Amino acid sequence: MTSLSTSPSGTLVPSAQPFLRLEHYTFGVGDRFAHQAKAQLRAFTLAAKDGVEIIPVWNKSNREHMIVGSKPDSVRGAAEVAIRDLGWKKPFHVDADHITQETVGGFLESSDYYTIDVAAAIGKPAADEKVSAFLDRHPELFQRIDLPGQDPLTISRADATQTARKYLFAAQEAGRIYRHIANAKDKGSFVTEVSMDETDNPQTPGELLVILAALADEGIPLQTIAPKFTGRFNKGVDYVGNLAQFETEFRSDLAIIAHVVKTYGLPVELKLSVHSGSDKFSIYPAIYRALRDTGAGVHVKTAGTTWLEELIGLAEAGGDSLALAKEIYAEAYAHREELSAPYAAVIDIDVAKLPSPEQVKKWSPEQYVNALRHDQKCKEFNPSLRQLLHVGYKIAAKMGNRYLDMLETCEESISRNVTTNLYERHVRPIFLGK
Ligand SMILES: [Zn+2]
Repeated sequence: MTSLSTSPSGTLVPSAQPFLRLEHYTFGVGDRFAHQAKAQLRAFTLAAKDGVEIIPVWNKSNREHMIVGSKPDSVRGAAEVAIRDLGWKKPFHVDADHITQETVGGFLESSDYYTIDVAAAIGKPAADEKVSAFLDRHPELFQRIDLPGQDPLTISRADATQTARKYLFAAQEAGRIYRHIANAKDKGSFVTEVSMDETDNPQTPGELLVILAALADEGIPLQTIAPKFTGRFNKGVDYVGNLAQFETEFRSDLAIIAHVVKTYGLPVELKLSVHSGSDKFSIYPAIYRALRDTGAGVHVKTAGTTWLEELIGLAEAGGDSLALAKEIYAEAYAHREELSAPYAAVIDIDVAKLPSPEQVKKWSPEQYVNALRHDQKCKEFNPSLRQLLHVGYKIAAKMGNRYLDMLETCEESISRNVTTNLYERHVRPIFLGK
């Protein structure tokens, strides 16, 4: 046991703890069936040609592993093959996404990036004396706080008490999980993220400040924090919410991060992590502007958007692979309730808008692709169908080799779609502003 495990709360300077430094711009990609790492990596080689260094992070949550029936070390395996084949000389990471104390074990060997999920602990009240000890330790929270480019922030002790009641226990839980990982791994061999995105209410910038002070007290060398932002971040479809409010909040959060790095000794690498970041096309210009104006880094996490490109590639190739894509839709349609259940909070499927499997059976490759591809200008684009298929990867997983073999047969059309989707629709607007 190291001293880490025995001296929690307030005595450790987070950035003085050993940690693996995370790069400025990082991008999380998910690869449900471990066949697209190369096509994904190509998007970052294209970005490098544009002069932007973006470091890939392959992420897969325990939930995805359970549904697909894969093991955590397969993610690193697939990434390493892609790195070798494309001659990628820069770093890459493997993210144990949304892990908890119960699920982290399987990821200790193969991951170098841990997204500690404490959503389940939010709202569990910390003991009253811990809340008041925390607030007594942080009188600076109640003074006027000047933030670069923002109106000054003032937090009352009453507000901070409320926030601490809601989040202090969760921050302490993050500390426990962090120390568990640190004790199991080599010194300085991993990145720590804390996620609070899978919860009911967005955190205000003031709440984020209190949360980060509490995480700093735990001595966590935190490099990314995933708050829940205002608006809806549904899987596979665009952002729904007030764009101006999002931009204001995103910029305030960046200012809070700059402030806590100075005030609490958190690593200078600390940055925001945007979860369910794929397909949120309407907020990308705001993110691009905020990064450009402040020089802040960012982590954008995506996952299922690649699996949908596999389906698009299968449909585009026609014949047997189109038939397989239709079969997957028919099965997903039949099992729509059970497939949607684990994702209920992050999808919005209008069942009335779903075409029947009989209709889909008659579709041409073009009709299938147009309904599924995330092109909002296309009249045939169907967000309900897209979201159903987004959560429908379990159907393909059950097909086993029949599905995997078809991925190999249609490698050309699939990898072309995977790369184009990441590079044109995600990387360029977020990091290049076009
Ligand atoms: Zn998340």
